[in-house]
Amino acid sequence: MTEDFIGMCYPTTCYNCGKMADQEISASSSRAEVVCANCGATRIFVPRFEEPAAPGEFAPIECYDVWDLLTDATCKNCHVTGPHRLIIGCRNFSTHCENCDYTHFFRFDVEYIPDRDGPKDTQ
Ligand SMILES: [Zn+2]
Ligand SMILES: [Zn+2]
Repeated sequence: MTEDFIGMCYPTTCYNCGKMADQEISASSSRAEVVCANCGATRIFVPRFEEPAAPGEFAPIECYDVWDLLTDATCKNCHVTGPHRLIIGCRNFSTHCENCDYTHFFRFDVEYIPDRDGPKDTQ
């Protein structure tokens, strides 16, 4: 099962092109990504299996605002379609089912900027 269970757009200022643009957010069990609809800047996140010590651990290492979003999705765990909370920063991505508290954690893996310099690996 690899189909996306999260799919939404969040209009905000892109960290790459600096324009207000939809950021297309998608997530499946095996991967999550955020793509700028304007410049195509893509961030890929992969699952991380360690439990973060606390939700507050997300904050200090971020390079820009953490997005705290709600979207409807069908939970992989309880199979209820309802609100899921997305916490997205430049290093972390998590989805949290508001019904059963099931949480997926992802960590930043690679960034791809399509124009100018071509593919760029920031690791
Ligand atoms: Zn952009
Ligand atoms: Zn659930």
